[in-house]
Amino acid sequence: MRLGNRHLIHSAFTVIAVAATGWLFLFQTSSARAYGPVDVIGPPEVRSIVETFLAPTLPQPVRIVIGPCPDGFPSQGCHASGRSMDTIWLDPANGGLDTETTAHEMGHVFESYMWNLRFERRQGTEFVPKTFGRIASVLFGEAGPSTLESDVWSEQFAESYSACARLPVISEAITGFYGFQMSPEQHDLICPMIAEMGQRYDEASAKNADANRPRVRFRRNDPIG
Ligand SMILES: [Zn+2]
Repeated sequence: MRLGNRHLIHSAFTVIAVAATGWLFLFQTSSARAYGPVDVIGPPEVRSIVETFLAPTLPQPVRIVIGPCPDGFPSQGCHASGRSMDTIWLDPANGGLDTETTAHEMGHVFESYMWNLRFERRQGTEFVPKTFGRIASVLFGEAGPSTLESDVWSEQFAESYSACARLPVISEAITGFYGFQMSPEQHDLICPMIAEMGQRYDEASAKNADANRPRVRFRRNDPIG
């Protein structure tokens, strides 16, 4: 099963301050649970999509812009890390207001917020690089020390998150852009790891809830795409 005809344009464009050219919505997931249906404030169509996810969403706000990506290239959707929250753009003009695109971009958000948690140096966050490394090993066969810094990793993780969010099981290999391939065996290995990360995110957040922590430091500027 193909993941569809994506046109997720990769570029070096990054955004911190958001210039919203479409409708601007904010939705906040509940801090009380990692699994849907999440408490979404935003466009009803996006809320409906996220509520169907089989993969965990994280209790952080995410800004949703319905409209073209700010880099000017036609694409279905894109993502950028922000200082206070991440933003994803979904462009209906390019077919981006669909479950696949939303799940892919929410996969970028999931990875981004996981790294934010880790780079706050919170207790009990060692699982972030460890589990991402295990997922990368499943995807790539062999994951080197720089694998998790690569765009290919981020894109393939987003595709993996999307597959886990949408498909409880797969009976045959699926493919996507950025060389993404996932066999049924890989799906069965990766999806529980993503689910476990969602649980451990909540645990680590609760453990550090009373600590006076510095603001998030960003690992890097995530590429649009
Ligand atoms: Zn992407």
